[in-house]
Amino acid sequence: MSDAPMTYVSTRADAPAIGLGAALVAGLAPDGGLYVPASLPSFDVTDFDDCDTLPAVAARLLRPFFAGDALYGELDAICAEALDIPSPLRAIAPDTWLLELFHGPTAAFKDFAARFLAACFARLRLRDAAAPARTVLVATSGDTGAAVAAAFHRRPGFRVVILYPDGRVSPRQAHQLGAFGDNVRALRVAGSFDDCQALAKRALADEALKARVPLTSANSISLGRLLPQMAYYALAALQRRRAGGAPPAFIVPTGNLGNAFAAILARACGLPIGAVVLATNANRTLPDFFAGADYAPRASIATLANAMDVGAPSNFERLRWLYPDDADLRRAVTAEAVDDATIRATLRAHAGRGLVACPHTATALHVLDRRRAAGDHGDAVVVATAHPAKFDTIIEPLLGHPVDTPPALAALLARPAEAEPLAATYEALVARLCALDRER
Ligand SMILES: *Cc1c(COP(=O)(O)O)cnc(C)c1O
Repeated sequence: MSDAPMTYVSTRADAPAIGLGAALVAGLAPDGGLYVPASLPSFDVTDFDDCDTLPAVAARLLRPFFAGDALYGELDAICAEALDIPSPLRAIAPDTWLLELFHGPTAAFKDFAARFLAACFARLRLRDAAAPARTVLVATSGDTGAAVAAAFHRRPGFRVVILYPDGRVSPRQAHQLGAFGDNVRALRVAGSFDDCQALAKRALADEALKARVPLTSANSISLGRLLPQMAYYALAALQRRRAGGAPPAFIVPTGNLGNAFAAILARACGLPIGAVVLATNANRTLPDFFAGADYAPRASIATLANAMDVGAPSNFERLRWLYPDDADLRRAVTAEAVDDATIRATLRAHAGRGLVACPHTATALHVLDRRRAAGDHGDAVVVATAHPAKFDTIIEPLLGHPVDTPPALAALLARPAEAEPLAATYEALVARLCALDRER
């Protein structure tokens, strides 16, 4: 297979097409849109015949997306370095599997993409070794910050600044964020996640600030996070196909729609993926749209599944790009909301059957239960987005016993943690970023 060079265009169609490396570094397109590939490759399952591991599947799947870019020759090495994390497909009931995406260093699915992005950035930087240190600025509702911090921790030429809403992430998430030290700073912001995201967005669009402090982002709209996430869906779908199964439905706990969109994109590239079902918490923007209402982003509300507390899912713009017609879009994807009381009941019920899940995964488990109760017995994969031990303060009182902590998470929790307070004002953030940059 020889691949034509790939370019990336904005979902708002008002920015020049650029190459992969430039799109990775840019984050947002200059017209405010999100970068998407100018065309989609089309795969057959036989294209993956010699690919059994996640790095091998990723390297094959992403080749056309890297074609023509300076990183093309390093794709195999990037995948081998970044995606060396198990993503087991575990049978949990007849025709039902759990895709466990929580075996990375910070115990959430965001590790895959954060490590991939960091591996790309490090190589882009190697071409420009004289460049000043870059600050990776990231707003987090809990899990992104730790994954990005772990991926860039002690990488020469990078500093990570994390903004998180003080008191609104789980105690263990907060501890993780503050436990890295070295080139990672955790700033606990006196405000909500929306405030943190607004601060980060403003800084990343502030050309005067960026002339003083070279900034880059690693948030969920980054192309460098979207692309690698396709790989674990591809591998799971291929594993089911090789076992003789039909294309399974994937039920994905969803907030900003980054993870689920990767499944939808992989299906659009020809991977044997059946229905893609979005499971949300009580933030109903997506379920309301898919039930027929106009798309109406709104303020987020706090739930037990905090990493999905999103009222304005950024990646919806990419869904609209892929399916410009709303009727087509509603045929391609469905969405269901799950409230906190149901999350609790689901956690208890599944724990009673030996499956201890995190509150985010519980939304998808409940959607599965609803489908089964409605008589749908087709093959289904529930995506497990985080390890339950990250949410011990929610899970343990429900279950009445402790949950086992994976070793990587235990190691982080054993380190001292430190976070600086930050007022939720732009002036406070700019002052802090400039002071950190002077420290070198
Ligand atoms: C980030 C996150 C989600 C939501 O993923 P999106 O890509 O924002 O839809 C779900 N579960 C967990 C545990 C997360 O950290």
